[in-house]
Amino acid sequence: MPRFGGTAANRRIAVALSFDFDAESVWLGGLNTNTPSALSRGAYAANEGVPRVLKLLAEYGLPATFFIPGYTAEIHPNETKAIADGGFEIGHHGYLHEPPTSLTHDEERVMIERGIEALVEVTGKTPVGYRSPSWELSPSTFSLLAEYGITYDASQLGADRPYWVADGGKRTDIVEVPSAWELCDSAHFWFSFFPTYRTGLSAPSKVAEIWREDFAGAYEESGDICYVLTMHPELIGRHHRLRMLRGVLDYILEHDNVWFATMGELAEDFRVRSQATAMIKEN
Ligand SMILES: [Zn+2]
Repeated sequence: MPRFGGTAANRRIAVALSFDFDAESVWLGGLNTNTPSALSRGAYAANEGVPRVLKLLAEYGLPATFFIPGYTAEIHPNETKAIADGGFEIGHHGYLHEPPTSLTHDEERVMIERGIEALVEVTGKTPVGYRSPSWELSPSTFSLLAEYGITYDASQLGADRPYWVADGGKRTDIVEVPSAWELCDSAHFWFSFFPTYRTGLSAPSKVAEIWREDFAGAYEESGDICYVLTMHPELIGRHHRLRMLRGVLDYILEHDNVWFATMGELAEDFRVRSQATAMIKEN
């Protein structure tokens, strides 16, 4: 895949495009809503969103990471396989998009297990990354993720660059690749009357300004900053928003030494650099 001159070694900034393929799961598990209309909004992600997003990524030749709830993979195996076959990374995103804060320790274990099983069943690959539904975490989450071989998390918002996850005051072996609500399409675009009212429906020009300006500042600061966009095929897959995303990507691509990477590559890059720094300190 072309990386437009930017590599891990020469990067001035790293950029990751991440997509949460929530579909019906977010309504069923996240919002306890099973009305036909709500579920049809979820289905839009598979019917229109994913094919359009994959087409755009292929056109630009860019890598991306898709976080997919197990249930979504089960009911949309063709779209999930198309994502995997396109060479994109797939991460864990719950089973039915259930917020971990609503689960007991044992229920959260079942959710993690079922999520992994579903992704393995459909794609043949075990995920190493996890993004919690709605970016909420329970006191059990990190110990359970470590048990199930998850090596990085993408649910926290604590920095603009990767860092080690701390659990109960202790450093874990899990890398955090943080995100930001400002760079998430749902904060700007999700409209609903029911079951909760969300205003959404921002003008794409407003969001493009936020995303471009955030990139410009991060590029100026440079270093080990990771600019992570979080998007949802059911939201970003609308034509006016895809045209906005195209504009933001075109703007980013005007800059030199931008390393486009998957979330997993960013985590691995941080792990390797941290280990190298630790070795230098030891010697
Ligand atoms: Zn989600």
